[in-house]
Amino acid sequence: MDLGLRGKSALVCAASKGLGRACANALAREGVSVTIVARTQGPLESAAAEMAGSYGVTVTPVAADITTAEGRQAALAACPAPDILVNNAGGPPPGDFRNWTRDDWIKALDGNMLTPIELIKATVDGMIERRFGRIVNITSSAVKAPIDILGLSNGARAGLTGFVAGIARKTVRHNVTINNLLPGPFETDRLTANVTTVAKNAGRPFQDVWDERMQSNPAGRFGDPAEFGEACAFLCGQHAGFITGQNLLLDGGAFPGTL
Ligand code: NAP
Repeated sequence: MDLGLRGKSALVCAASKGLGRACANALAREGVSVTIVARTQGPLESAAAEMAGSYGVTVTPVAADITTAEGRQAALAACPAPDILVNNAGGPPPGDFRNWTRDDWIKALDGNMLTPIELIKATVDGMIERRFGRIVNITSSAVKAPIDILGLSNGARAGLTGFVAGIARKTVRHNVTINNLLPGPFETDRLTANVTTVAKNAGRPFQDVWDERMQSNPAGRFGDPAEFGEACAFLCGQHAGFITGQNLLLDGGAFPGTL
């Protein structure tokens, strides 16, 4: 399917690896010029070179921490009027809520709630004026089924979800949609790091915990980041203008609810 995106521009945050990179990759393949943001220069530049080489589009790397005001300024300076915005950042650390300070909470809110809101604020009016805009926020399956040790993530992402639910109904009239993608377990560096921690805490071999988690998913496997990128590209496409304010769960069926 031609998504009708050739010649559009996208700002994709936290995109040198994992899910963000998969989204940028799928958009670049559709002919979108992408600006990708991550903190570490080396992997960011190789990701940009690979995408530009594969798809012949302009890929602009911005080495910045998107959760800071300076980082957002740098990203927006490189891509001031994106047609597509993909909000993403690293997730907050796991732990026990009894140990979290106000600063821990502010950091989580900055990363997973306030940064996407700031970037939406900076870009949405331009999208409305141009009568095309697609905003996709990468959140987590934990928004639907909270994970106890990820309380910082559960709280911050639920805040973003509530905010988006309100404004997504205001922008769609102008062909500007805002949706959330909720990843379950996808095979990325972050998943490897999480499983490493769980295995270490339980005193078990990494491979045992990895295989157990994989087999416990109804799909019998983890998600491939490329599958996630394709879902993102579809939501960003010309044909998805009637889809807004939705929370799309990509978890291999792990969430057991009827709806
Ligand atoms: P990943 O493979 O570790 O990749 C994270 C990417 O984000 C890297 O490119 C990283 O580069 C960049 N990044 C992290 N913090 C950043 C910041 N402050 N500013 C700019 N770039 C930043 O992670 P992932 O698995 O793709 O996860 C992406 C998001 O989805 C996270 O919020 C995660 O919690 C959530 N999630 C993932 C899963 C999963 O199974 N993978 C499940 C549920 C939710 P640098 O480190 O160089 O900045």
